[in-house]
Amino acid sequence: MKALALLYHDVVDGGDWDASGFPDPVSATYKFDRHDFERHLEAASAVAARRGTVYDLVEGLLGPPPVLLTFDDGGASAYGCVADLLEGAGWRGHFFITTDYLGTPGFVGGAQIRELAGRGHVIGTHSCSHPTRMARCSWDRLIGEWSRSAQALAEVLGEPVRVGSVPGGAFSRRVAAAAAAAGLTALFTSEPTVRCRVVDGCLVVGRYTLRRGAPAAVAAALASGAVAVRLRQFWLWNLKKVAKAVGGDLYPALSRLVHQRARHGSPGATRA
Ligand SMILES: [Zn+2]
Repeated sequence: MKALALLYHDVVDGGDWDASGFPDPVSATYKFDRHDFERHLEAASAVAARRGTVYDLVEGLLGPPPVLLTFDDGGASAYGCVADLLEGAGWRGHFFITTDYLGTPGFVGGAQIRELAGRGHVIGTHSCSHPTRMARCSWDRLIGEWSRSAQALAEVLGEPVRVGSVPGGAFSRRVAAAAAAAGLTALFTSEPTVRCRVVDGCLVVGRYTLRRGAPAAVAAALASGAVAVRLRQFWLWNLKKVAKAVGGDLYPALSRLVHQRARHGSPGATRA
């Protein structure tokens, strides 16, 4: 089974990057200006063979892979901006909520995610606390992050929450196994791949990260399933993983290389 899933974060007006989501400089590099995001949406809409949601995947789907638009962190712009833009273009989004921040300044509140769900958007968990390195958390911590956040959302929505996305881009099989043990049936990662797989009964779906500054043409290429752009993101992502694993003196040099390449076309991806 295949899916073309795109990963965005917040969308803000006038460069007010701290208005939605986590207010720090690194997070800001993942946030889009509204006009830029509108161009991405237009470009993706023009080429997407099918606008889908995760439920299409869970239920099984024939035909071309659906394009899924996902938004991590639970920033306030999900309600105040993104959902309206998506609906105007005939999409429904996936909003992944960091539940410890639900209803705090810069983040969506309970009534807002209830309304988003009622409007057909998918609400999922993005953990409770957004651990920096999810893959290094203990098993008990992983279970707690997934189960307590899903429960908190279920209480707000009045229905079970079975979908999640991995914070920080730090995915491992154990992270998915814990999600499955906590009752999730679908988990989005930041691994740039179209191929879905199943871990302990939980469908694991890769995503392609779009960072601020990425041309709308990249969104179009990804949404159309173009191989060259997908391979580029795959290469960047895996080089980054290798560089982090090697660490030491080699990492800064490889990191500069990755970012240099990213500036010349496709975005890199480290955060979710
Ligand atoms: Zn995140």
